[in-house]
Amino acid sequence: MRVLGIEGTAWAASAAYFDSETDEVFIESDPYQPASGGIHPREAAEHMAGAIPEVIERALVEAESVDAVAFSRGPGLGPCLRIVASAARALAQSLDVPLVGVNHMVAHLEIGRHRSGFANPVCLNASGANAHVLGYHDGRYQVLGETMDTGVGNALDKFARHLDWSHPGGPKVEEAAREGEYVELPYVVKGMDFSFSGIMSAAKAAVEAPSTGNRDSKSSGDAVDSGERVEDVCFSLQETVFAMLTEVAERALSLTGSDELVLGGGVGQNARLRGMLETMCEARGASFFAPEPRFLRDNAGMIAVLGAKMAAAGDTLAIEDSRVDSNFRPDQVDVTWRGEESV
Ligand code: ATP
Repeated sequence: MRVLGIEGTAWAASAAYFDSETDEVFIESDPYQPASGGIHPREAAEHMAGAIPEVIERALVEAESVDAVAFSRGPGLGPCLRIVASAARALAQSLDVPLVGVNHMVAHLEIGRHRSGFANPVCLNASGANAHVLGYHDGRYQVLGETMDTGVGNALDKFARHLDWSHPGGPKVEEAAREGEYVELPYVVKGMDFSFSGIMSAAKAAVEAPSTGNRDSKSSGDAVDSGERVEDVCFSLQETVFAMLTEVAERALSLTGSDELVLGGGVGQNARLRGMLETMCEARGASFFAPEPRFLRDNAGMIAVLGAKMAAAGDTLAIEDSRVDSNFRPDQVDVTWRGEESV
């Protein structure tokens, strides 16, 4: 099965070609970089409209044939999703192949399952707009725990913006945290759910925004005149939010009886988060897997791989039923492909 995948839920205009015979995934992406602040939906959609035709063309350069076209149907920014869906519909029609609508968050999970070979893992999705722990039961992915407010990456990005650091903030927080020491921040886990907005506000209050705080031109080691050192707050922010995610992931393993954990989402590129999860899994005799960075951040490779599994299971969409869903939850997806997996 050879599948063209197209991703465009927010910042990444991305296309990929997946050949299930060789298991090779060829990904071409063009990221949207806001000039200032966070992601502006209108600007992101303008970027998407300009970049999608080009990334598709590049992804198909060495393609021999295409058996299906898969696209990210949601969740994400409506204007971006609609552009990607239009491109996918037009291509599926012109190539006369089936169209597959993929849930972006399930794709973050499935790429880890596919690359690890784990049979039935718990999945921690730690991305910009989301944070949740998923387990599989009876033909559905169940949300075992999730954020009660903002996504984990969005919390890091908002804190970074407070310091005038450019988007995305997560990698800059990780870099600054290397020089940091612990200062106390609130830790908020309620049952199996977590909350990041109070911690983010406490972290903002703990530092005073430096007047020339652009991290792109500023080396680490800078301190603020009053309040805590930026490096210490970055360190503590990471320790706190990642410990919360690790605690809930551990309880999910315990509740489900699974001994396999996979990580998904752009925040998964953070070495400290991966280290914490690895240590926790080792301590309980569980296996841990994080895909390589190109499959963690938003990418069309994961859409193509899950698209191939869905197409093989006959889980395709008629054009008239292919509307996007910006609030598409992972537990709404009927998991058709796990019965007899051939891809
Ligand atoms: P979603 O998958 O929920 O739609 P998204 O569209 O924001 O999320 P992702 O690529 O999954 O996209 O994640 C992007 C997030 O990852 C951003 O918030 C960014 O700051 C964060 N991030 C990237 N690298 C790192 C890092 N090294 N440490 C922490 N966070 C990181």
